[in-house]
Amino acid sequence: MNPFPPHRRIPPVRRFRPHAGRFRWEEVPLRTYKPEANSFRGVTRQVLFDAADGLPVQVRYFEIVPGGFSSLERHEHPHAVVILRGRGRVLIGTEIHAVAPFDLVHVPPMTWHQLRAGAEPLGFLCLVAHDRDRPQYPTPDELAALRARPDVAAFLQP
Ligand code: MN
Repeated sequence: MNPFPPHRRIPPVRRFRPHAGRFRWEEVPLRTYKPEANSFRGVTRQVLFDAADGLPVQVRYFEIVPGGFSSLERHEHPHAVVILRGRGRVLIGTEIHAVAPFDLVHVPPMTWHQLRAGAEPLGFLCLVAHDRDRPQYPTPDELAALRARPDVAAFLQP
Protein backbone atom coordinates (compact mmCIF):
# COMPACT_ATOMS: atom_id res chain seq x y z
CA MET A 1 0.00 0.00 0.00
CA ASN A 2 1.27 3.45 -0.92
CA PRO A 3 2.02 5.34 2.30
CA PHE A 4 2.03 8.66 0.43
CA PRO A 5 -1.18 8.92 -1.57
CA PRO A 6 -1.57 12.36 -3.15
CA HIS A 7 -4.70 14.09 -1.89
CA ARG A 8 -4.79 17.26 -3.88
CA ARG A 9 -4.84 17.89 -7.58
CA ILE A 10 -2.12 20.19 -8.85
CA PRO A 11 -1.25 21.02 -12.44
CA PRO A 12 1.60 18.87 -13.83
CA VAL A 13 3.57 22.08 -14.38
CA ARG A 14 3.23 25.27 -12.35
CA ARG A 15 5.15 28.23 -13.66
CA PHE A 16 7.62 30.52 -12.01
CA ARG A 17 6.23 34.05 -12.21
CA PRO A 18 8.35 36.83 -10.76
CA HIS A 19 6.09 39.40 -9.12
CA ALA A 20 7.09 42.89 -8.02
CA GLY A 21 10.73 41.89 -7.73
CA ARG A 22 9.98 38.77 -5.71
CA PHE A 23 10.32 35.12 -6.71
CA ARG A 24 6.85 33.61 -6.96
CA TRP A 25 5.23 30.47 -8.36
CA GLU A 26 1.74 30.60 -9.79
CA GLU A 27 -1.05 28.79 -7.94
CA VAL A 28 1.06 28.54 -4.78
CA PRO A 29 -0.31 30.65 -1.93
CA LEU A 30 1.97 32.97 -0.03
CA ARG A 31 2.10 32.00 3.64
CA THR A 32 3.00 33.95 6.73
CA TYR A 33 6.22 32.92 8.33
CA LYS A 34 6.04 31.42 11.82
CA PRO A 35 3.77 33.76 13.70
CA GLU A 36 4.92 32.03 16.91
CA ALA A 37 8.65 32.64 16.41
CA ASN A 38 10.46 34.90 18.84
CA SER A 39 12.27 37.12 16.38
CA PHE A 40 12.49 37.42 12.61
CA ARG A 41 12.17 40.15 10.02
CA GLY A 42 10.85 40.27 6.48
CA VAL A 43 10.40 36.57 5.63
CA THR A 44 7.81 35.12 3.24
CA ARG A 45 7.15 31.44 2.49
CA GLN A 46 5.68 29.38 -0.32
CA VAL A 47 5.14 25.62 0.07
CA LEU A 48 5.87 24.27 -3.42
CA PHE A 49 5.40 20.53 -2.73
CA ASP A 50 3.86 18.87 0.29
CA ALA A 51 2.41 15.69 1.74
CA ALA A 52 -0.75 16.60 -0.16
CA ASP A 53 1.25 15.83 -3.30
CA GLY A 54 2.18 12.37 -2.07
CA LEU A 55 5.64 13.26 -0.75
CA PRO A 56 7.27 12.57 2.63
CA VAL A 57 9.00 15.96 2.42
CA GLN A 58 8.00 19.57 2.09
CA VAL A 59 9.78 21.78 -0.45
CA ARG A 60 9.43 25.39 0.68
CA TYR A 61 10.70 28.62 -0.85
CA PHE A 62 11.60 31.39 1.58
CA GLU A 63 12.53 34.91 0.71
CA ILE A 64 14.07 37.36 3.17
CA VAL A 65 14.05 41.11 2.46
CA PRO A 66 17.36 43.01 2.49
CA GLY A 67 18.48 43.32 6.10
CA GLY A 68 15.92 40.73 7.21
CA PHE A 69 16.55 37.44 8.98
CA SER A 70 14.91 34.11 9.80
CA SER A 71 14.29 33.03 13.37
CA LEU A 72 17.19 31.73 15.45
CA GLU A 73 16.17 28.17 16.27
CA ARG A 74 17.08 24.50 16.43
CA HIS A 75 15.19 21.22 16.12
CA GLU A 76 15.72 17.48 15.63
CA HIS A 77 14.95 17.51 11.91
CA PRO A 78 17.70 18.59 9.49
CA HIS A 79 17.35 21.23 6.77
CA ALA A 80 18.57 20.89 3.19
CA VAL A 81 18.80 24.41 1.75
CA VAL A 82 19.48 25.49 -1.85
CA ILE A 83 20.19 29.21 -2.27
CA LEU A 84 18.37 30.56 -5.35
CA ARG A 85 18.86 34.34 -5.28
CA GLY A 86 20.73 37.11 -3.49
CA ARG A 87 23.58 36.92 -1.07
CA GLY A 88 23.56 36.52 2.64
CA ARG A 89 25.07 34.79 5.61
CA VAL A 90 24.08 31.75 7.54
CA LEU A 91 24.81 30.80 11.13
CA ILE A 92 25.12 27.03 11.70
CA GLY A 93 26.03 26.21 15.27
CA THR A 94 28.84 28.69 15.91
CA GLU A 95 29.98 28.85 12.27
CA ILE A 96 29.12 31.78 10.00
CA HIS A 97 29.24 31.28 6.22
CA ALA A 98 28.60 33.63 3.30
CA VAL A 99 26.11 32.13 0.84
CA ALA A 100 25.29 32.84 -2.82
CA PRO A 101 23.05 31.30 -5.49
CA PHE A 102 23.22 27.53 -5.86
CA ASP A 103 25.16 26.98 -2.66
CA LEU A 104 23.89 23.94 -0.74
CA VAL A 105 23.51 24.35 3.01
CA HIS A 106 22.92 21.49 5.43
CA VAL A 107 21.72 22.20 8.95
CA PRO A 108 22.28 19.15 11.18
CA PRO A 109 19.87 18.13 13.96
CA MET A 110 19.74 20.28 17.12
CA THR A 111 22.03 22.94 15.69
CA TRP A 112 21.26 26.64 16.15
CA HIS A 113 20.72 28.31 12.79
CA GLN A 114 19.68 31.59 11.24
CA LEU A 115 19.83 33.05 7.72
CA ARG A 116 20.38 36.76 7.11
CA ALA A 117 19.92 38.62 3.83
CA GLY A 118 22.54 41.09 2.65
CA ALA A 119 21.79 44.09 0.42
CA GLU A 120 19.52 42.04 -1.89
CA PRO A 121 16.60 39.72 -1.09
CA LEU A 122 17.86 36.27 -0.10
CA GLY A 123 15.76 33.48 -1.60
CA PHE A 124 16.24 29.79 -0.93
CA LEU A 125 14.56 26.41 -1.14
CA CYS A 126 14.40 24.54 2.17
CA LEU A 127 13.55 20.83 2.27
CA VAL A 128 12.24 19.26 5.46
CA ALA A 129 10.58 16.00 6.42
CA HIS A 130 6.82 16.33 6.47
CA ASP A 131 6.64 14.74 9.92
CA ARG A 132 8.98 16.81 12.05
CA ASP A 133 9.40 18.36 15.48
CA ARG A 134 8.63 21.98 16.32
CA PRO A 135 11.48 24.51 16.43
CA GLN A 136 13.00 25.45 19.77
CA TYR A 137 14.03 29.04 20.41
CA PRO A 138 16.98 29.97 22.64
CA THR A 139 16.45 30.72 26.29
CA PRO A 140 18.15 33.87 27.63
CA ASP A 141 20.99 31.64 28.96
CA GLU A 142 21.42 29.87 25.62
CA LEU A 143 21.41 33.21 23.82
CA ALA A 144 24.06 34.55 26.21
CA ALA A 145 26.21 31.45 25.54
CA LEU A 146 25.94 32.02 21.79
CA ARG A 147 26.74 35.71 22.18
CA ALA A 148 29.86 34.86 24.18
CA ARG A 149 31.55 34.38 20.82
CA PRO A 150 32.25 37.85 19.37
CA ASP A 151 31.71 36.77 15.75
CA VAL A 152 28.36 35.19 16.62
CA ALA A 153 27.36 38.24 18.71
CA ALA A 154 28.14 40.49 15.72
CA PHE A 155 26.14 38.21 13.42
CA LEU A 156 23.10 38.27 15.71
CA GLN A 157 23.25 42.05 16.14
CA PRO A 158 20.50 43.49 13.89
MN1 MN B 1 14.85 25.63 11.13
